Amino acid sequence: VLALTLGACSSGGAAQPATSGSAPAPAAADCNVGITMPTRSLERWINDGEQLKKQLEEAKCTVDLQYADDKVDQQISQIQNQIAGGSKILVIASIDGTALTPVLEQAAKQKIKVIAYDRLIKGSPNVDYYATFDNYKVGQLQGNFLKDQLKLDSATSPINIEPFAGSPDDNNAKFFFAGAWDVLLPYVTKGTLVVPSGKAPKSVDEWTTIGIQGWKSANAQSEMDNRLSSFYAGGKKVQAVLSPNDSLAIGIEASLKSAGYKPGPDWPIITGQDGDKANVKAILAGEQSMTVWKDTRKLGAQVFKMIQQIIKGEKVDVNDEKTYNNEVKIVPSYLIEPEVVTKDLVQSKLIDSGFLKGSDVGL
Ligand code: BGC
Repeated sequence: VLALTLGACSSGGAAQPATSGSAPAPAAADCNVGITMPTRSLERWINDGEQLKKQLEEAKCTVDLQYADDKVDQQISQIQNQIAGGSKILVIASIDGTALTPVLEQAAKQKIKVIAYDRLIKGSPNVDYYATFDNYKVGQLQGNFLKDQLKLDSATSPINIEPFAGSPDDNNAKFFFAGAWDVLLPYVTKGTLVVPSGKAPKSVDEWTTIGIQGWKSANAQSEMDNRLSSFYAGGKKVQAVLSPNDSLAIGIEASLKSAGYKPGPDWPIITGQDGDKANVKAILAGEQSMTVWKDTRKLGAQVFKMIQQIIKGEKVDVNDEKTYNNEVKIVPSYLIEPEVVTKDLVQSKLIDSGFLKGSDVGL
């Protein structure tokens, strides 16, 4: 039986040790959390979901964690089930950030609090908080990395680059592209960078024209296959690829290999994001130049803190109240810093911190 008091899910910030002899602390009715994540096909979402669930359960919360195989309707029905099942707080990493308005209206009627996780939920007034990484900064790190590696300020001959953007239904993808393109577009305009495929948005707002639906590796691979076979005839080489994340980078790298590129001096500089195992292996093998690492454990910890603050009726910590306008309101946000990981930083950043095991990446 759940205690119907306004109990906190834990009062101290960590799980309460059970006092021996006494009954276990009753699960607070208010700490009933529904978590919905987009897909199990990407490592990061599996880690995100499991970490948060574990932390909440240790604090005696009731948790329902669901993955929707990147299907919007499936995610909506999972959220409906969580509402019907008594969730008091919903943590949602949306698939299509514009598709949740009706279901969040149902949530609001039940006074359920909603935290947008990693991706902004758009078009709805019923989003209470947003916890994410600094998404513009992710793109900026990628753009500046390319700028430095390609020595764009001192380049004497034009450099071939192919830019990619993420899924058009993901608000993050716009921020990633904007961060990178604000750095790179001036060099395209000057002619220092050339995009042989012509797939160079003239402004950041045109980013969806090069967006890869569903962030699918296979879609990025076939797009890269097309660009290489149509625009790189006669020995022309691509020297850099702006890839917004690791799943796209994997597809792009597979395409380069099948077109005959070999790791070494002719292999392009390629960016990424997430620190997925396969990509870290690619970094160690010289097939990817960097990944923007977002320590998802920090995001989980921040959301856990938000949940506790909501339940205790405390002020919820946010550090940005201007960037994330969801077209109805500015959603109070907490942004976490991303960082660049290159080959020489894999050990110190990813392994020593316990984010990955050495054996995960062949070390
Ligand atoms: C996330 C990235 C992820 C991508 C694909 C984005 O919203 O911020 O970390 O690579 O979705 O799942």
